[in-house]
Amino acid sequence: MKPLTLAHTPFNPSSESLGQPSDLSTRLRTIDPALDLESEIVRLKGEMNATILAHYYQDADIQDLADHVGDSLALAQAAAKTDADVIVFCGVHFMAETAKILNPDKLVLLPDLDAGCSLADRCPADLYSEWLKGYPGHTVINYINSSAAVKALSDIIVTSSNAVDIVRQLPSDVPIVFGPDRHLGNWVQTQTGREMVLWPGFCIVHEQFNARKLAQMRTAYPQAVLIAHPECEESVLNQADFIGSTLALLKYVQEHTEQTQFIVATEVGILHQMQKSRLDAEFLCSPPNSGCNCASCPYMRLNTLEKLYLTMRDRTPEITMDEETRIKALRPVQRMLEMSKNLAPVQQKGD
Ligand code: SF4
Repeated sequence: MKPLTLAHTPFNPSSESLGQPSDLSTRLRTIDPALDLESEIVRLKGEMNATILAHYYQDADIQDLADHVGDSLALAQAAAKTDADVIVFCGVHFMAETAKILNPDKLVLLPDLDAGCSLADRCPADLYSEWLKGYPGHTVINYINSSAAVKALSDIIVTSSNAVDIVRQLPSDVPIVFGPDRHLGNWVQTQTGREMVLWPGFCIVHEQFNARKLAQMRTAYPQAVLIAHPECEESVLNQADFIGSTLALLKYVQEHTEQTQFIVATEVGILHQMQKSRLDAEFLCSPPNSGCNCASCPYMRLNTLEKLYLTMRDRTPEITMDEETRIKALRPVQRMLEMSKNLAPVQQKGD
């Protein structure tokens, strides 16, 4: 089959495609500058019987207000268990969609509907569906960083925390298609020895680390340990002392107290939890190809404290999806939760 290539396109959020209410900037101007936003958010949380779920890549002020802080797997597990009436998801669109897939009767809010993801956006369901026709009989494994419509085309959803473990659970003669992240897929292949057909997607944040500059940095900081997320390019991963999901990287830092300097090749938001748990340690960002020396996800940064307050005050924007898609997407998500129930416990605030 002809190899598929995906163009590098700049960060370009499109609220039209996601149905963002066009009045967000108007609503932002209605916030009294003297308002204590943190106190108001806590008050609204009680009033609404809401839970706030925040990804590690959110800004520190949002992480500190959340009931659960975690990676994609931990937050999906938290969403599956919650008895709150409202889920306020501080992360990106596919994560809030996953919460809605698991909780059709709850109100699921996302502070900014433009908070998308380069992986999910570059894997449109119609194109993916056509591509899959070239691989009949394959088990379709999809990274959770995909839209509900793409999840609905899958057999099993995985996260970077459980992908290796789940692939190892499949019979060795089952052919596998893996999407939408080619670097995570490649890393899973090296860990499991399984050959998989890979969709050529990538994360604009993790693909920007520069292997040559990183090698120079390692020479300049010989004591530093390099820890990397598997969404990074192979040339970066080949230099790493430890590779793991965001949660695994955090645990590594917490457990290796003999190390006091770390070069971190993943999104910069995780440094907040790392620094909180290791006040004695120094954390350096892995160098990018160009621009400022930090790996900040522009989609994640669209959520702000002001927008978090607004989404709770106005109970909008809400995550919605048609029921047929939700039911089709639910099966592979449940399969993931079932196959990873002994992994990655949810990290509660203050853990
Ligand atoms: S860091 Fe990359 S994979 Fe994560 S939400 Fe941002 S664009 Fe998507």
